[in-house]
Amino acid sequence: MVNPSEMVQTLRNSFNSGKTKPVEYRLKQLKALLRLYEENTNEMLQALATDLHKSKQEAVTMETQYLINDLKNTISNLKNWVKPERPPKEFVNLLDSLYVYNDPYGVVLVMGAWNYPIQLTLLPVAGAIAAGNCVVIKPSEIAVASAKFIAEKIPKYLDSDCYQVFEGGIPETTQLLREKFDYIFYTGSTSVGQIVHAAANKNLTPVTLELGGKSPVYLDKTANLKVATKRIIWGKCVNAGQTCVAPDYLICTKDVRDKFVECAGQVLRDFYGDDPKQSPDLGRIVSDRQFQRLVGLLQNHKPAVGGRFDAAERYMEPTILTDVKRDDKVMQEEVFGPILPIVTVNDAYEAVKFINSREKPLVSYIFSNNKKDVQLLIDNTSSGGVLVNDTIMHMATDMPFGGVGLSGMGSYHAKYTFDTFSHKKSCLYKDLGFIGETLGSARYPPYSEGKLKL
Ligand code: NAD
Repeated sequence: MVNPSEMVQTLRNSFNSGKTKPVEYRLKQLKALLRLYEENTNEMLQALATDLHKSKQEAVTMETQYLINDLKNTISNLKNWVKPERPPKEFVNLLDSLYVYNDPYGVVLVMGAWNYPIQLTLLPVAGAIAAGNCVVIKPSEIAVASAKFIAEKIPKYLDSDCYQVFEGGIPETTQLLREKFDYIFYTGSTSVGQIVHAAANKNLTPVTLELGGKSPVYLDKTANLKVATKRIIWGKCVNAGQTCVAPDYLICTKDVRDKFVECAGQVLRDFYGDDPKQSPDLGRIVSDRQFQRLVGLLQNHKPAVGGRFDAAERYMEPTILTDVKRDDKVMQEEVFGPILPIVTVNDAYEAVKFINSREKPLVSYIFSNNKKDVQLLIDNTSSGGVLVNDTIMHMATDMPFGGVGLSGMGSYHAKYTFDTFSHKKSCLYKDLGFIGETLGSARYPPYSEGKLKL
């Protein structure tokens, strides 16, 4: 194993030398990263197929092209982003200059998760480079082929004095987290997020935690059922449900539930044919451990749709559960697989109450054409984000993405990634001349009632 202390020290020496500060240097590294993506797209697709049986279309739209688009945007905007902001001035500062500098933090750690193993690791890395940091890159060891790809390619394209890959599982990562970092960006489960937070706390290291949770979908009778069902089922089945923003469970009235189940059966046949196992478009579960966990969630349930699985292939058929009680296991933990439990309520008010009785989700989905109820849900629930009448597509905007409460802290994407990895350093540049000194002299003793009125 690479010695984590030596790795961090190498990067710290490089950071302290000022090497990563010039914007030209950062742009050179970002362009090299872009070349890495463009010259190795097929290898990336291969690694993703090996790890998750990811179809080409999902891998291109949600990993390779997603990374390329984000990086091109960063490269073309970086010179503007790095400029110090000039905030508005108060009367007392009229003669002064105010700047908010975007300072790099120093040596940052980026830890990725296995479900979008290349994108979730390298998207934040690009932001950290853009902001002028040195970076320890820690891919998830669960996605073996993707981790290997990252570990092999990064040293070939990026400056190893400043950016290094650290590979390993829990024992190695535990050791890595003993090092002092200037920022930690973690993507993964809430329970490991708590471990990372505790480790960061020793040095008061700031963190972004991109976590998970049970993201609800509220569906009412005013929504176009066919379109809504397609969007919900697609969001649930992309990457075989192993998506942090997958709709976790459906919440609706009993009559909507019955219509949805009927429609979902047809939509699933349209998407994946009569035997989804044969479809090249449906992914597989990443590991035996995750697979067995999902099988456990099905126990004691009689699926309304689907329910078949095959351990040899880690295949899980898209499955809908209607006989769900609120304290069933499937309603207690994040599903993170192609299983959709449905809970029923009488109206939008009850849905609000139900959502608020749970931990704050990463995203709340609302399918409705009733503007009053949509606003009721938006105004009275807390979640990382809200998407009305679709699933997952908020990831294709440049809005800040992140959780709240147990679904995470901090956010990123587009310019927000650059901001995440930049310390906002305020600088007040005073005037030392006669007028400035005269204007400011009321602050000096001896104090008086007269000076207080100025
Ligand atoms: P994972 O097992 O790949 O873990 C993530 C990282 O944590 C890896 O780098 C791993 O090496 C490290 N790790 C694991 N256990 C550790 C420990 N005990 N101590 C130190 N480091 C440890 O991924 P996961 O946690 O199974 O990911 C799935 C979860 O991630 C789901 O809850 C999902 O919702 C969430 N997620 C969130 C986002 C987001 O952007 N908010 C994206 C993807 C996944």
